[in-house]
This record gives sequence, structure tokens and C-alpha cells, in this order.
Amino acid sequence: QVADTLAKEGCSSPSYDWFQTDSSVTIVIYTKQKDINLDSVIVDHQDDSFRAEILIKDYSYIIHVELSHEIEEDFSVRVVENVGKIEIVLKKKENASWKRLGHPLENHNSLILKKDTGLYYRKCRLISKEGVTHDTKLFCLMLPPSTHLQVPVGQHVYLKLTITGTEIVKPYTPVSDSLLSEFKEPVLLNNKYIYFLIKIYPAGLFTPELDQLQIGDFVSVSNPEGSFKISQFQELEDLFLLAAGTGFTPMVKILNYALTNIPSLRKVKLMFFNKTEDDIIWRSQLEKLAFKDKRFDVEFVLSAPTSEWNGKWGHISPALLSEFLKRSSDKSKVLICGPTPFTEQGIRLLHDRNFSKEEIHSFTA
Ligand code: FAD
Ligand code: NAD
Repeated sequence: QVADTLAKEGCSSPSYDWFQTDSSVTIVIYTKQKDINLDSVIVDHQDDSFRAEILIKDYSYIIHVELSHEIEEDFSVRVVENVGKIEIVLKKKENASWKRLGHPLENHNSLILKKDTGLYYRKCRLISKEGVTHDTKLFCLMLPPSTHLQVPVGQHVYLKLTITGTEIVKPYTPVSDSLLSEFKEPVLLNNKYIYFLIKIYPAGLFTPELDQLQIGDFVSVSNPEGSFKISQFQELEDLFLLAAGTGFTPMVKILNYALTNIPSLRKVKLMFFNKTEDDIIWRSQLEKLAFKDKRFDVEFVLSAPTSEWNGKWGHISPALLSEFLKRSSDKSKVLICGPTPFTEQGIRLLHDRNFSKEEIHSFTA
């Protein structure tokens, strides 16, 4: 039935094969899709389980086996994009010949709707934690060597901790380590570090526990989720970003990506809403970036400024947006993220200003 549905969408069912040399085992997956890249492949080798999940449109194709022999921790993943072929090369621990790949585990060699696969987690080590504002920190987590996972720009993951015997899960959006470093992701493959900007709420359920972790402790990180697709940025000329508080997080990688990889881009404007000056994440980096790259502008708007603040203030409003959203072409996009009432109000105001549904992307749960 799934194969029929896929066929209607112009996809045929994926398949796999494997072969070996004295020192390696290669698993080859034929997705029969053209738009497959390294972001589409998630591989984990944990305890006795080897699991590869290939994201194909709304589906996941899963290879899941208990390998018949032991392998080294690290492996390599290669994608031949034009034919949608994926090769995962495992290193044998011993030079023995394998008679079979392994024993099939749950969902092995099946294609299932992504929403039915459930969240798959791996344990990541806390590498560093650095204060950014009075309540927001930059956390760096390291993926295990036996995981291949890249979070696509604009998507989020779930972090999981066991708090007094109960598993608690919350979504967070990976960022780059800084706004000013070159955009590394497509070049630096096998990137093992994931950075997060996370605001600690003293009365919150999850963030105080996260803040208590020591360097070297573990946090579980899920597969990526989210509907944002950076491919919609091709030919883009104007990009408007509306962010409130930690709603800034999805904008970080998008900003880096757009300024580096979209040659048609003429203007990127960020309107960043916060309560006070002390709440502004990476203010000086944003100002430096605006100085360095003339296509980028940033405006700060405070909802609870001190009397010394002589910049813009208030909540998101028609007056603030009419000045900010000056289209210079019909190839524009507006991205919006923040507290739910902020995002809802923003979307209403954008529709009032004749931005179409296709031109707006809002980040929500
Ligand atoms: P919660 O327990 O949820 O509490 C949050 C605040 O609400 C606290 O101030 C608490 O005191 C107050 N509160 C809780 N319950 C009540 C109540 N009954 N009445 C009144 N007040 C109450 N956050 C980030 O910092 N960085 C990110 O990159 C990020 N990415 C996200 C991506 C997505 C897709 C989504 C949906 C959210 C994201 N968030 C992000 C928010 C994050 O998921 C959590 O909601 C946030 O960290 C708060 O979690 P918490 O459990 O610590 O606090
Ligand atoms: P905050 O309380 O510090 O508020 C920041 C600004 O948001 C305020 O200065 C104000 O301008 C605006 N704002 C707040 N409440 C508003 C309201 N009722 N109406 C209009 N504007 C309002 O924000 P925070 O504590 O940093 O919270 C950030 C929010 O962003 C959280 O709710 C978080 O879940 C959300 N978030 C969502 C995603 C996502 O969906 N992908 C990612 C990151 C953060």
C-alpha cells in the first residue's frame, strides 16, 4: 500500500544490497530518488543495533539489523546524488568473511510514513556551556562517533533527559557556533558538534536540569523534524526575519546559509524583539555582521526598555512592520518565530500587508 502511494507520487520503493572485502562491508541503498543528500541519511550503531534511516519525502526507509560480526566505531557515508545511491562503508573488526549482514530488527527493510517512525535518540556528550546573556547559554553537544546525523537548516531536534524518573522531551533548534564564522556545514562533512542557544527558565521543567549538567554528561538528541525547506530560497532577493527572544535560533543558520549560498540575494533584514537590552542574544555579532555585509541590516525592538533606550520599542505592530517590510522585488520571503501570540499577531499583520501564505514561513511546534 505504501509502495502504491509512493508510486502515485512518482517514487518507487527503495532497496538495499551489501558486499564485502577483507576489511570492510558496504551497504548500498538504492533510493531511486534524485533529491537525496547527506541530510537525508541518518545512521546509528548503538550496542548491537545498526540502524540507517533514509528520509524520502514523507517516508522513511529503514535498514535495521543486529550485525553478524563486530565493526569499528566509525564508518563513512557517501551519497551519489544524481542517482540517489547511498553507500555506508563499515570497517570490520576482524578479517573474517561474513555469511550474512545480520539479523533483522524492528522495521528492517521497510518504508514507513515518517510520522509513524517515532523519535529515535542517541546519547550526546556535553562538550561546553558558555553564557551568552544573563539567562541564555550556548551549549555544545558531541554526536557519538558511531552516528551520522546532519540537522537541515531551519529544522529542530528534541532533547531528552530523565528527570526524577520521568523522561522529559523538549524541542530545540541547532545554531552555528557564531554568526561570524564562515558557513561550514556543506564543506565540513562529518560535523560532530551541535550547538544550541538555550534560555534557562528558573521555574521551568527542563532547562534548569539541562543547566545542571556537567561537562561530559549525556543528553539524548532525536532525529531532526520540521517543515522548513531551504530549497525555497533559490532565486530569492529579499529576506525579512522577524524574531522574538529565543525565536532568534532558527534565524541563525538561515542567515549564515542565505548570505553564503544564495547569489541572487540583495537584502536580508532582521527585526529582533526582546524585553530589554540585556536579553538581546549575540547583539554585537549581529552589529558586526551588518557592518561586514552590506546586504544585512538588523533592528532591535524592546518591549520593556529602560529610559536610556532611544531605539524602537513596543510589541509587533502595523507601524513597526510598515517601515520594516519594504519589498524591492516580488521574490521575497518573511520568516517569523517567537512566543505563540507574537507569531500569530505577526502572521495576521503580514497578511494585512499582502504577503501571501507562500511568502511566509512561521516556526512553530
Ligand atoms: P517550562 O516548564 O515549559 O516553562 C517555561 C516558562 O513558563 C517558565 O518561565 C515557567 O515558569 C513558566 N510556566 C510554566 N508553567 C506555567 C504555568 N502553569 N503558569 C504560568 N507560567 C508557567 N528554546 C530555546 O531556548 N532555544 C531553542 O533553540 C528553542 N527551540 C525551539 C524549537 C521549537 C520547534 C519549539 C516549539 C520551541 C523551542 N524552544 C527553544 C522552547 C523550548 O522547547 C522550551 O519550551 C523552553 O526551553 C522551556 O522549557 P522548560 O521546560 O524549561 O520550561
Ligand atoms: P520573551 O518572553 O523574552 O519575549 C520576547 C519578545 O516577544 C517580547 O519582547 C515581545 O516583543 C514578544 N512578545 C512576548 N509576548 C508577546 C505577546 N503576548 N504578544 C506579542 N508579542 C509578545 O521570549 P522568550 O522567553 O525568549 O520566548 C521565546 C519563545 O519562542 C518561546 O515561546 C519558544 O517556545 C519560542 N521558540 C519557538 C521556536 C520554534 O517554534 N521553532 C524556536 C525557538 C523559540
